[in-house]
Amino acid sequence: MKHVIVVGGGLGGLAAAIRLQAAGVQVTVLEKNARVGGKMNLVQRDGFTFDTGPSLLTMPWVIRDLLACAGRDLDDLLTLLPLAVACRYRWPDGTRLDAHSDLAALVAEIERIAPADVAGFFRFMAFATRIYQAAAEPFLLEPFSGLRTMLQPRLLRDVLKIAPLQTVDQAVRRYFSSPYLRQLFDRYATYNGSSPYSSPATFCIIPYVEIAQGGWYVKGGMYQLARTLEQVAVEQGVAIELNTAVAQVTFSGQRATGVRLASGEQRRADYVIVNADALYALDELLPPTKAPQHQLSCSGFVLLLGVQRDYPQLLHHNIFFAQDYPAEFRAIFEQGLPAADPTIYVAATARSDPDHAPAGMLNLFVLVNAPALGKVDWNHAAAGYRDLVVRRLEAHGLAELGRSIVSETILTPYDLQTMTNARRGALYGPASHGLQAAFLRPANRPPGTRGVALVGGATHPGGGIPLVLLSGKAGARWAWEELNG
Ligand SMILES: Cc1cc2nc3c(=O)[nH]c(=O)nc-3n(C[C@H](O)[C@H](O)[C@H](O)COP(=O)(O)OP(=O)(O)OC[C@H]3O[C@@H](n4cnc5c(N)ncnc54)[C@H](O)[C@@H]3O)c2cc1C
Repeated sequence: MKHVIVVGGGLGGLAAAIRLQAAGVQVTVLEKNARVGGKMNLVQRDGFTFDTGPSLLTMPWVIRDLLACAGRDLDDLLTLLPLAVACRYRWPDGTRLDAHSDLAALVAEIERIAPADVAGFFRFMAFATRIYQAAAEPFLLEPFSGLRTMLQPRLLRDVLKIAPLQTVDQAVRRYFSSPYLRQLFDRYATYNGSSPYSSPATFCIIPYVEIAQGGWYVKGGMYQLARTLEQVAVEQGVAIELNTAVAQVTFSGQRATGVRLASGEQRRADYVIVNADALYALDELLPPTKAPQHQLSCSGFVLLLGVQRDYPQLLHHNIFFAQDYPAEFRAIFEQGLPAADPTIYVAATARSDPDHAPAGMLNLFVLVNAPALGKVDWNHAAAGYRDLVVRRLEAHGLAELGRSIVSETILTPYDLQTMTNARRGALYGPASHGLQAAFLRPANRPPGTRGVALVGGATHPGGGIPLVLLSGKAGARWAWEELNG
């Protein structure tokens, strides 16, 4: 039986492992942490439960497809909750918009705050739909083969539909005149850690996916997804070894032969799939290459706050927008500094899972975009930035937040790097700024090598739950083809 080693038990690695084991290959996952999940993780503290990574699930059919290949039905394993209001958006002047999942209710909200933009909303959604139709297959659903994919006749024919030559912000401005809606639709570029002022309008595919296909929460907490994939992998026969760090992928000539563990032990394999962050892997695990220097996607500054009161104005997902959005991205991407007036995301999963906080209390997952590690010494900056974020939330109406905190964990970009080996804490590998960076991410099959593939959010098709699961699918296919070719 052929043997594949998967380095890293993040979602992309687990997806590849399940698919290959189901296809009759013996798979071993080596994970450096005590738990699988990588960026999708969990903190339970002082009676509060927090997801520490993703909080919104899109394209759940990708999970259904993955589980089906192991003979399992998603509905037997997970409960996906659609939220009536996908997100509550608030602006500093008190304006509020509830993004209802129901289209008529969403349009009514848009009409309430920006009546002139209702027609623009429908035209924008038609534009975003055209992008999805043209881009989903070559970029998301099929394994990406670099220039060969880019030069497909179908994609060349549709190239203008995917709007690569304008930025997200330029496209959004064509459809919306309201500054509120411009900010709201620009924000989707941050779903892959990029700036709307620098990333191609192709990323307007993201609001299409969320608004037209829907967004879900996993009952019990997002971490249930990682747990379920682990359980299904083990049931299939995948061996998962935790607390097992890999130091290097070993080669004979250009062909990968296995891995060397941090302990020094050698493990042989017929194929190696690396799910650890691709930029880290190219630097540390694989033979040196002349990899292009990438501007990194943003990292995150996370507060996990247990508060001893309720804030009725908070829904499950909430966004508090900054006053000056361009200034926020200038700080992060040009100055390498955290924004002085950041946009703040707050999730309160206790709204959907009451046992995530003691009765009458709330568990707040607070996320602010932050620059990848570089200029900021977070050992010194973390406490001050935490105070700034808490004060901003108080100014946004969360009265006496600081005095209500009874449990607190701070995760800085440094912690995110340490936890998952994400290069400089960047959550999505390279930023999708400019054409080359957006469309030619680090190759899934490192040039000049055989028997090894990279999967996960820093490669193709990109970050986010469904995309990394799709990269795992592509990695499994390459491994299978090479092992049986
Ligand atoms: C704060 C935050 C919020 C997010 N919000 C969302 C969201 O709402 N919706 C969404 O879809 N996505 C979201 N994401 C993105 C999503 O979580 C990631 O894109 C996805 O989980 C990454 O999966 P991955 O396969 O790239 O693996 P990773 O999560 O990067 O896992 C890689 C694994 O490899 C292990 N590893 C690394 N080096 C080694 C080594 N040398 N030896 C052994 N093991 C190693 C790591 O420990 C880790 O477990 C968010 C991420 C974060 C951090």
